[in-house]
Order: sequence, then C-alpha cells, then structure tokens
Amino acid sequence: MHDNHFFLNRELNADLHNHSNVSDGVLPPEVLAVRAKENGVELWALTDHDEVSGCEKAKQAAHDLGLPFICGVEVSVSFLSETIHVVGLGVDHQQSTLISNLAHNRQGRIARAQAIAQSLEKAGIKGCYEGAMRYTQKPETISRMHFARYLVEIGACENPAAVFKRYLTEGKPGYIAHLWTSLQNSVQWIREAGGIAVLAHPGRYKRLRPKQEDLLFEQFIEFGGLGVEVVTGSHSPQDAIKYTQKAIDYNLWASRGSDFHAPGESRIDLGALPPLSTKLEPVWLHLANRIHY
Ligand code: AMP
Ligand code: MN
Ligand code: MN
Ligand code: MN
Repeated sequence: MHDNHFFLNRELNADLHNHSNVSDGVLPPEVLAVRAKENGVELWALTDHDEVSGCEKAKQAAHDLGLPFICGVEVSVSFLSETIHVVGLGVDHQQSTLISNLAHNRQGRIARAQAIAQSLEKAGIKGCYEGAMRYTQKPETISRMHFARYLVEIGACENPAAVFKRYLTEGKPGYIAHLWTSLQNSVQWIREAGGIAVLAHPGRYKRLRPKQEDLLFEQFIEFGGLGVEVVTGSHSPQDAIKYTQKAIDYNLWASRGSDFHAPGESRIDLGALPPLSTKLEPVWLHLANRIHY
C-alpha cells in the first residue's frame, strides 16, 4: 500500500462527495467503498449530511480495499434566503464537539418532516411521515430525499427528481422552510475538527442573485473556507465552466465529487466525473496529512 503521499497528483480520480445510508444515500458505507474501488476511484471521501457516523466503517472498508480515504461531512446551512451546503474534508470524525454540533443541526429534521407530511396530506397524500421514515436508518437523519423515494414508491411521480419539482421545492405542496446553522458555524466546526471547508455545488443556489453569490464567496473565505466544488454531479457543464473561473478569481482550491446517492437514481456514478481544469489547484493536494490508508 502507500507508505508516502507521492501518489497524490492532479489527475487523480478523486471522488470527494457522496452519501451512504447513514444520511440520504441507499448503500451502507462499506458497500459504497467497494463501488468506489470498482469504479476506479483513487481517493475517496464519504460526506453524509450532518453526519460522520458512517466514517469509521467507510474507513475500515477502504483500508481493506487499499483505497485511500478521507473522513468528510456535508453541513446544511442557511444563508440569506437559501439553503446551502458546506463540505468538510479531512475532519476528525471522533471529535466530540463536531459530533454534538452536527447532532444539533440534525435536530430540527423530525419536526420539519412532520410539517412536510402535514402539508402533503393537505394536498391529498396521506401517510408520508411513516412512509418516508421507512427509508431512514434513524429518524433524525430524515431528508426530503426519503420523502421523494416514498412518493415514487406510491406512484405519485416517476422518479425523485420529478417529486422535487412537483412537491418538495419552494412554492409547492410539501415544501417547508427550515433554519439550519450559519455559514460561520459550519466553517468553524469543520476547521476545529481539523478539516478543510469546501463550498458545495454553488451552481445549485438559484435563489441567490449575483451580488448575493459574491457575498457568499466573500464571507465563506472570510470565515476560513478554502475550497469550492467545481466538478460535481450537481453541476451542468456550464456550471463547471462558470465555477472554474470563480475558483480562480477567489483563489479557492477546487474539489470534485459525484454527489452519488443511489444506483439508478444519481446522474453520475462514483468516480465517473470529468477531470478538473488544469488551471485549478486540486484540493486533494492539500489533504495529504488527512488521508487514511
Ligand atoms: P434535505 O437536506 O432534507 O433538505 O434534502 C436535501 C437533499 O435532497 C439533497 O441532498 C439531495 O439529495 C436532494 N435534492 C434536493 N433538491 C433536489 C432536486 N431538485 N432533485 C433531486 N434531489 C434533490
Ligand atoms: Mn442528499
Ligand atoms: Mn448538497
Ligand atoms: Mn451531497
């Protein structure tokens, strides 16, 4: 196996954003590790929503497969009128303050899920709370994705993407606004746990006007954020071009991750992403001392 870090190069097939069934993915961490290895991933990070409890299993499975691994997390944040996500790479998944901060951020999920179910019931769809809960491993991780899977199960829509469009996004029955932690907290939690904070899929924050997006980048950097996702399953090719330039303009390290959730559900499989532009500084060149072999 690797007894040094010289394998870290720009062209590495790094997949630094994906989800296990610890949050709203469907595969257990150890199964995800096998899929990453089989798909040719050379550096892998698990980044569950507001959860690091899958990292230990992922780390051990990756070790057995000879797959270099990084503990990660995707923190839910409220910024202006938008929900944004901040990925933490190389966090200490056993740090008690990180674990309790994330637990606190998850706390509102159950009440939100009840409100979502009530809203869907008013729209004529009953039993969504129980239905969505059946897709979770533990109640406090309940996500809109679990509702989406249940609504597909009962035939309300063809696929999760259609459910989001018709039910779970702003202005639609089933959408409930939610207050997550602040941008400053998210970056601080990640830094204090030894990680690098990366702004996740900025192309998805459609509610932010250009000036507000600039403010997001500026504040993220001011609080100590160091990276931005450029190539991700959540970006269109045009987004990747736009945020390549943003990464350069703001002098941020660039990250790459599939945002894989489930076979047949996610647009891009683990490890199946295009490369980063050679103009960018890959974030993984700065992760050497955070890799588990
Ligand atoms: P939550 O954290 O419960 O609000 O759920 C957010 C999750 O729902 C994201 O991490 C994605 O997995 C999924 N998601 C959000 N928006 C969409 C969308 N438009 N289409 C498909 N999945 C989405
Ligand atoms: Mn998700
Ligand atoms: Mn996300
Ligand atoms: Mn994600």
